[in-house]
Amino acid sequence: MQSSFSFKSILYITLPLVIIFVIVLTAYWLFTPPVQFDGQRAYALVQHQMSLGARTPGSQAHAQTIQWISSTLQKNRWQVDIQKGTQIGKPIQNIIARRGAGSPWIIIGAHYDCRMFADKDPDASKRSLPVPGANDSASGVAVLLELSRVLPKQEHPQIWLVFFDAEDQGRIDNWDWILGSRYFASQLQDKPDAVIIIDMIGDADLNIYMEHNSDQALTEQIWNTADEIGYSKNFVPTYKFSILDDHTPFLEKGIRAIDIIDFDYPYWHTTQDTADKVSPQSLQAIGETLVKWLEKQR
Ligand SMILES: [Zn+2]
Repeated sequence: MQSSFSFKSILYITLPLVIIFVIVLTAYWLFTPPVQFDGQRAYALVQHQMSLGARTPGSQAHAQTIQWISSTLQKNRWQVDIQKGTQIGKPIQNIIARRGAGSPWIIIGAHYDCRMFADKDPDASKRSLPVPGANDSASGVAVLLELSRVLPKQEHPQIWLVFFDAEDQGRIDNWDWILGSRYFASQLQDKPDAVIIIDMIGDADLNIYMEHNSDQALTEQIWNTADEIGYSKNFVPTYKFSILDDHTPFLEKGIRAIDIIDFDYPYWHTTQDTADKVSPQSLQAIGETLVKWLEKQR
């Protein structure tokens, strides 16, 4: 008698609490707006990379960037691995963030290294300095990291965000272009369904032309998506350049890949590639377009 009374009273107190808890949780889930890609946040990530200094291979800034990218991805709940190897005798550290399983399997990549020499600088005395790389590396990394914050935890079957090492050291003694992505592609066991590379996409004056070597159908999908959400000014539906970039090793393996790159950048490989040339609006255009395209891949 006594024990049944106390069981009931516990029930009378607990049950309403449980019901209130469930209601509050449901309301929170229903009325919390989905996390949106934020160009301002991405821009802050560009500034952070700039504060480390030029991320040239072997530098302290390069090592710090690997640490920072990895910990940011882990904080955003991605499974993170640092892929270590060598390519033409150079040490390679690619950072791979994975989420989901099965197909479609989509890889979005950007390089995080800065070029060791600003050999296009108009001032010859500055050509032995490193490229600060606000647009030429920091912008792509920033968009990838902001994507890692906003992409849904489960909805997409399988997404990898890959940060490639040593893309930008071609025409330097004993080096070559795209070493990180070459190593990564050489280690791939299976074929992803699509590989999207973003490079130099932060230019405040953002005009991205279609790239000749890229997969044509995938290019059209991305440009159409940008057009749908009002970014046709930034994604110009005309072919212009043929570029060797981190998409090349995938294309060579018969994998659908594209390069999203604004190659009309007057500060390319100069010491003037600084954060004031990059705009949050440009990062926003890229980020939003990729989020929208990924939504269609479910
Ligand atoms: Zn470059």
